[in-house]
Amino acid sequence: MRASITLECTECKNRNYNSDKNKKQNPDRMELKKYCSNCKKHTVHKETK
Ligand SMILES: [Zn+2]
Repeated sequence: MRASITLECTECKNRNYNSDKNKKQNPDRMELKKYCSNCKKHTVHKETK
């Protein structure tokens, strides 16, 4: 039950991370604070399709 997801920076819209998640534990869109090399700082990254 693992789905592959892409994490997108909410500030510059760069797609910085590929990950996977457990759909049962996280049925909603995930938001994670991660380092964005484009913004050169930590930003909120959102799951995208
Ligand atoms: Zn960014």
